[in-house]
Amino acid sequence: MPRWSRRRRIVKWTAAVLCVALLATWPLSFGWALRCQSWHLGANLHKGALMVSYHPGATYITACRIMPFLELPVAPDWLPGYARYPGFPSAVTLWIPVWILLVAVALPTAYLFYRDRRPPPGHCPWCRYDLTGNVSGVCPECGREV
Ligand SMILES: [Zn+2]
Repeated sequence: MPRWSRRRRIVKWTAAVLCVALLATWPLSFGWALRCQSWHLGANLHKGALMVSYHPGATYITACRIMPFLELPVAPDWLPGYARYPGFPSAVTLWIPVWILLVAVALPTAYLFYRDRRPPPGHCPWCRYDLTGNVSGVCPECGREV
């Protein structure tokens, strides 16, 4: 029997949950915003992007909240980028679109699920080598007991 790595299974399923959360967050972020602020920093999940702002002219109280209909002076683009706040040349906002985060998480997750798929019956559970006719109990390909 294959002994699936517990750590890899945890990473795989955590990443799968993160993919679902990102998928759900993406459309919701167009009507709502998750805003976290502290000191001169702000992070917003807004209009399909994760936006991080540095605004030395403002000192925020540390808080996280969900806000409907948030309008920021900077709107994110479909590609990663940055912008300065109008009227505040020292304030800057960087953003990365959620779709890029989703792809960055989904591709390795899909690979982990592909890699962990069960081997067909009669195949080595470690390397998937066809063991038809093998009665030795040892895989000739990887040398492990089967
Ligand atoms: Zn094998």
